[in-house]
Amino acid sequence: MSRIVYLNGQWLPEAEAKVSIFDRGYVFGDAIYEVTAVADGKLMDYAGHAARLMRSIGEIALECPVSADELLAIHREIVVRNNLVEGLIYLQISRGPDDRDFHFPKSPKPTLSLFTQAKKFIADGPNVVNGIPVISLPDLRWARRDIKTVQLLYPSMAKMEAEKHGAADAWLYEDGFVTEATSSTALIVTRDGHLITRQLSHAILPGITRGSILSLARDAGIPVEERPFTLDEAKSAAEAMITSATQMVQPVVKIDGDVIGDGKPGPVTKRLRKLYIDYHLSNLI
Ligand code: PLP
Repeated sequence: MSRIVYLNGQWLPEAEAKVSIFDRGYVFGDAIYEVTAVADGKLMDYAGHAARLMRSIGEIALECPVSADELLAIHREIVVRNNLVEGLIYLQISRGPDDRDFHFPKSPKPTLSLFTQAKKFIADGPNVVNGIPVISLPDLRWARRDIKTVQLLYPSMAKMEAEKHGAADAWLYEDGFVTEATSSTALIVTRDGHLITRQLSHAILPGITRGSILSLARDAGIPVEERPFTLDEAKSAAEAMITSATQMVQPVVKIDGDVIGDGKPGPVTKRLRKLYIDYHLSNLI
């Protein structure tokens, strides 16, 4: 079934939505994106995603072409127009079309587009039941990973490398410390039950799910440490997991072939997944 997508104020069948080959998103990767999960036909953790979007576009000196209220209304309408019950909304804002020039255009006409993807992610699939294997790779992305740009070539290459090794994903490292996964936050649980994830900086994306999980963990009395951890520490941890909007919390059971804990999804990971689902399914908007 053809989706209805949003492009610069218009609702169009997906095949009719066209963007110029001069669009700076296409030529320079000059664009920001955001992904919001949809459950039960409603938006999950929307406030966080909208806030991060505004931060990202501010960081690249772009202006949002619609107001915050309009943005929410567009998110709601795209769900309705596509009868989306479970899945995600992808949003992208580029600096728009301009003749190729490294300088930003003086009067940019940003391109705002949104589309939906249906995806079952609430019920526990095999990755949640069994956990996933990951490999480690050097983090060769640019140095402003806190901005959610569409420059995703290296994460794509890393996913392909992981697939080649029979793994589901890659954890990236820099100067001996884990930064994050290709498209999710990396977390571990120490043998004495502390939840560890790298502190926010330019090195990682401020994951909205990460923020939510850390606050749910703190409320549940799980000790949290935001600090760098090495690959060796991860490999000898009791548990490992990744978080993202549409994976929520997923157990990681192997890193570079080394088994984490007893090789099964651990109790803290399962507990955090449940806390996240329970909280967010009762706070959909
Ligand atoms: N880190 C990276 C590099 C990502 O691409 C993503 C999601 O796309 C995340 C972390 C998780 O972010 P969120 O929890 O907001 O989905």
